[in-house]
Amino acid sequence: TKFSDLDLDPKVLKAIADAGYETPTPIQAGAIPHALKGKDVLGIAQTGTGKTASFTLPMITRLAKGRARARMPRSLVLCPTRELAAQVAENFDQYTKYMKLTKALLIGGVSFKEQDALIDRGVDVLIATPGRLLDHFERGKLLLTGVEVMVVDEADRMLDMGFIPDIERIFSLTPFTRQTMFYSATMAPEIERITNTFLSAPERIEV
Ligand code: AMP
Repeated sequence: TKFSDLDLDPKVLKAIADAGYETPTPIQAGAIPHALKGKDVLGIAQTGTGKTASFTLPMITRLAKGRARARMPRSLVLCPTRELAAQVAENFDQYTKYMKLTKALLIGGVSFKEQDALIDRGVDVLIATPGRLLDHFERGKLLLTGVEVMVVDEADRMLDMGFIPDIERIFSLTPFTRQTMFYSATMAPEIERITNTFLSAPERIEV
């Protein structure tokens, strides 16, 4: 598979070429075609496999059409730690350099005021840690009913950190019609349970 064989937005392909990527990694070749068809994806992959691009590239291709409304993010990427969320946000910036998508990073240690202002303007992509996202929700600053795509990254670490109840709550605040991409390095029983509950006929890609 070549990137140009995948049905990605031409602006995305250009950004990938700038990044020097020549061929999709196995998780990318496996996940991207299904994701572009709107299917749910269950990715069993470690860091270093290119999993971030495997969800980001189809997500931004989908989001290229349409426009964000105030306080209603169109997509949501949940990460276990601030560091990972910041890393995903950097990847996102790199891949969207030729697009006009808006994003906000909701992590602890940043003032609510700054984050509120971004959310008020409307964001295509919200990248967040679960606790911080729910803090904003409880403050009534954010609606999750407009979420078209939701990504859970490093679910096994979420489990280790006790975030599973938060993840379930966030899932339940988003529409049933959302597309879900869910990533974990391992499939513990608790992770299997969550995927059975919240993913709809997912394509399972294990690398
Ligand atoms: P990740 O597993 O998402 O943390 O990605 C690991 C590293 O691989 C990152 O530094 C990416 O920039 C890089 N990467 C992702 N996809 C590709 C690709 N298709 N070709 C070359 N490098 C890539």
